[in-house]
Amino acid sequence: MNPSPQALIVGAGPTGLLLTVELARRGIDCLLIDALDAPRSWDRATVVHPRSMEIFEALGLADRFLDEGVKTRAARFRSDGETLGELNLALADSRYGFDLGISEEVTESVLTSYLERLGGAVTRSTRLVGLEPRPDGVRATLEQRGERSEVVASWVVACDGLRSAVRELVGVDFPGPVSLPLPCRRALPERSCAARRRRGPRVLAGRGSRDEHRSAGRLQSRLEARPRLSGDQRTGAARQL
Ligand SMILES: Cc1cc2nc3c(=O)[nH]c(=O)nc-3n(C[C@H](O)[C@H](O)[C@H](O)COP(=O)(O)OP(=O)(O)OC[C@H]3O[C@@H](n4cnc5c(N)ncnc54)[C@H](O)[C@@H]3O)c2cc1C
Repeated sequence: MNPSPQALIVGAGPTGLLLTVELARRGIDCLLIDALDAPRSWDRATVVHPRSMEIFEALGLADRFLDEGVKTRAARFRSDGETLGELNLALADSRYGFDLGISEEVTESVLTSYLERLGGAVTRSTRLVGLEPRPDGVRATLEQRGERSEVVASWVVACDGLRSAVRELVGVDFPGPVSLPLPCRRALPERSCAARRRRGPRVLAGRGSRDEHRSAGRLQSRLEARPRLSGDQRTGAARQL
């Protein structure tokens, strides 16, 4: 582990990974750490928006994302059996006139592979536990499997999520809620985590009627019964259904 990187990036979720590849591409020496031993194996964010696709194109990664994801060209919002409105995503002022349905787990793995191709890596099982300003930068105390060590970086960047240790260590307040309100938590049943691990096409149903959930389940089963298809083939198959 480099004890004096130019930038210490704390957190290897999508934010930390994207920042690190952008800096590494410009020759900045980064140390990217994450407290977890391995990436989370379930997705949270499931959509990549047009502007993000444009950024991935600049990195030469657009095709990789298109191959892994499913294009959503329109969205229909329904509640209690009624259509509340429709959104035509082709109207986005972008060459990517769609949202791309893709697991956050896949997004992280594409960015990690790209970082490795640039010669970088995620330093895992490494938690930031202390920060102290110095004339030549910031001294950071890291904990790795019970052992403490120090690095001095010119910059420390907080990409460590909602309950940011960096934010707490530098005393920045966060007045917003740090946990989901109860009705929202109840809307995420245990088995949805297993369903979210699957790659490929996904039928999402909100908190609508039982009939909507049943038909979403039937569509999902029919999609999964199909052989593995490429990104565009999957989008076509989803449209036929
Ligand atoms: C259940 C759930 C569902 C979601 N669904 C959606 C969705 O449908 N659409 C959407 O857009 N977004 C969704 N989100 C939000 C989305 O997951 C986040 O916006 C996204 O993960 C934020 O990325 P990030 O890189 O900023 O932070 P994170 O992904 O949270 O990554 C932060 C990283 O920092 C590491 N870390 C934390 N503390 C330390 C420390 N002290 N030292 C070292 N490392 C540390 C953590 O281990 C973690 O890997 C969902 C989130 C959850 C929890």
